[in-house]
Amino acid sequence: MKAKPKIFSFELFPPKTEKGVARLHETVQTLNAHNPAYFSVTYGAGGSTQSNTFATVDWVKGRGIKIAPHLSCVGSTREEIVKILARYASQGIGRIVALRGDLPSGAGSGSMGDLNHANELVELIREHFGKTFHIEVAAYPEMHPQAVNFGKDLENFKRKVDAGADSAITQYFYNADAYANFIEACERLGIDIPIVPGIMPITNFSSLVRFSDGCGAEIPRWLRKRLEAYGDDIDSIRALGADVVTRLCQRLLEMGAPGLHFYTMNQAMPTLAIWDRLGLDSAS
Ligand code: FAD
Repeated sequence: MKAKPKIFSFELFPPKTEKGVARLHETVQTLNAHNPAYFSVTYGAGGSTQSNTFATVDWVKGRGIKIAPHLSCVGSTREEIVKILARYASQGIGRIVALRGDLPSGAGSGSMGDLNHANELVELIREHFGKTFHIEVAAYPEMHPQAVNFGKDLENFKRKVDAGADSAITQYFYNADAYANFIEACERLGIDIPIVPGIMPITNFSSLVRFSDGCGAEIPRWLRKRLEAYGDDIDSIRALGADVVTRLCQRLLEMGAPGLHFYTMNQAMPTLAIWDRLGLDSAS
């Protein structure tokens, strides 16, 4: 039997400045030369972030490149969400990353919106748009930071799958066993959608620590200590990071991961350093 092609995708965030927009355009053009399955663009609960997401989606889509907008439901009414989805459907966009999202710090609980969890967003998309969109959802091999426990988090992940999610992208992690264990637990629950590992290249120690603390991703002690010891030596941090993350990707692909989703942080080079070492130009 012929093996299924692996899905390789690149995540972008909507830039806020002209300089950021110029860099994003350059990054998309550079990465698109490597034939990803699609790019995705993050989405935030604040107003200006949302219009920046639409501008990024329009620009990428306008170049004939496949784009999957992220859409979070926190802080929005059903009508607002349906309006955004209708806009995407009219643009011929066929893939959405459906999330609950997080409210900006300081927002009161009154601003939660009509939907409480991502499974309700998946239901709403299927209810109003049928099979128009391929729906991606988030998965957490190291558990979502607000989850009661691993088992409950897994049950909640299954709710999204049962509501109609087609595939999932994971939070990033640096321990391949966390992914293997999560996949096994999913299989035991009868979850059989593709679960693509999210890959975070390592470029800067302090921002990686800040980010990881916020989203509950673990940096193994040995890696944290080695990166920390490099201080401001960015070149050494990037070189070690590229080696470590390439080995992680190799293990994940050998384990049967259905693809890789790179959190590019709008920079082409850190992702391409890993891509080239993996020899993915011949695989994608
Ligand atoms: P949910 O699936 O709703 O889960 C959130 C928490 O609630 C979990 O602890 C879960 O166990 C629990 N839960 C879920 N369903 C239920 C239920 N029915 N009843 C009770 N408890 C439940 N954030 C953004 O703001 N914008 C983005 O663009 C963005 N992109 C992301 C992309 C990926 C691939 C990933 C992994 C994360 C992304 N995030 C983004 C972060 C994400 O929004 C946060 O992690 C958020 O806290 C949870 O979103 P979710 O869709 O996983 O929520």
